[in-house]
Amino acid sequence: MFYFSEASIKHMENIEFDLKQVAYRALTLSKVDFGIPSTGGLRTEEQQKLLFSEDKTSVNGISNRSKHQANSNGKSEAIDVYAYVDGKASWDHYHLLQVATAFLQAANELGVKLKWGGLFHSYIDMPHFELLTGEWKWQG
Ligand SMILES: [Zn+2]
Repeated sequence: MFYFSEASIKHMENIEFDLKQVAYRALTLSKVDFGIPSTGGLRTEEQQKLLFSEDKTSVNGISNRSKHQANSNGKSEAIDVYAYVDGKASWDHYHLLQVATAFLQAANELGVKLKWGGLFHSYIDMPHFELLTGEWKWQG
């Protein structure tokens, strides 16, 4: 049984409720522990711009807004994770795939429509999950 650290809980503070519920349920289902990095929840435009300049996201935050930026409720509709294996953070694809499996199962159980960044075509983003609003599109 895994538990979120105080830091991960704080990083999820301003994530949409449904998505947070999925994350908590996923942690009980996952065979691999995971956490939420400091930029894994709600981001300001400045934080998004910085990540874009570091080539860590495909979305510049201005002309193209990220689901991590505030929606009309002031919340993030996206969450990023890292796997936590052998006492350290891991972005190993197999570890992230196991976490993703738990997220998708949790979303299915809770009836939450979820989009996984590992299925994006333009920019594969395995640590990323977002609420599916509107139609599915094969784009990140
Ligand atoms: Zn993300």
